[in-house]
Amino acid sequence: MTLTFLGTASGLTVLHRRHFSIMVETSGKRFLLDAGEGVTQGLLEWSFDPEQVPAVCVSHTHPDHAAGLPMLLQTSYLRGRTAPLDIYLPKGRIAWFENMLHGFNIFNSRWKYPICLRALEEAGERLPLEVFRNHHLDTILDVAPGYGLDAVSYSFLVSDAGRRVLVSSDIAGIDDIDGHVRGVDVLVLDATHAESEDIATLAEQNPDVMIILTHIPPEIEEETHPLQEMVRDGRMTLAEDGFSIQIN
Ligand SMILES: [Zn+2]
Repeated sequence: MTLTFLGTASGLTVLHRRHFSIMVETSGKRFLLDAGEGVTQGLLEWSFDPEQVPAVCVSHTHPDHAAGLPMLLQTSYLRGRTAPLDIYLPKGRIAWFENMLHGFNIFNSRWKYPICLRALEEAGERLPLEVFRNHHLDTILDVAPGYGLDAVSYSFLVSDAGRRVLVSSDIAGIDDIDGHVRGVDVLVLDATHAESEDIATLAEQNPDVMIILTHIPPEIEEETHPLQEMVRDGRMTLAEDGFSIQIN
């Protein structure tokens, strides 16, 4: 499978990174994991046709993971898309998302192609991935129900041709994923919410796992940051926008 990092920024907007999105190309399927702001420009820059993206999986609906969707829908429309687009969301956010699209004047009954909103929890029925719940949104567990929303976020496990890739998306800490790392070939890890010491320990405990850091906050780019030493000596990779890797 091939992963192309369309956006690698943290939740903070910066000039040199777009927000979180990864294009996954397996032997049978192509799909995006998350669609942060700038995803459509990222697709164009790295030679993907936005109107030909068949599916998007959204780990959680923070803007840096989901705010690119309305423009992806609009640009696909303007580029003449007719094929359906599947958008997988945590099921507790589907009704809200549909309502938001209506507010953006995006109505399935007037759209040139079907927008199929599906439960992320059931994405494995159509795509070569599993999702598992993490604790990233626990901080809003007390407030979300008062707005009629749950507070659920997910990490992804993608399998293809005997290879397994864990994409943490946003997590609460390394505890959210360390029980799932064993047996994976590549770990794509949220560098904002995992502590540097925990990342270093995880790398030491799993020398056979290739670690790619993304969701990069500005401080990690400082040469003196402790993770930079591990990047320099090849123990892990720090993704840039447009970084692409084939996993065979
Ligand atoms: Zn988040």
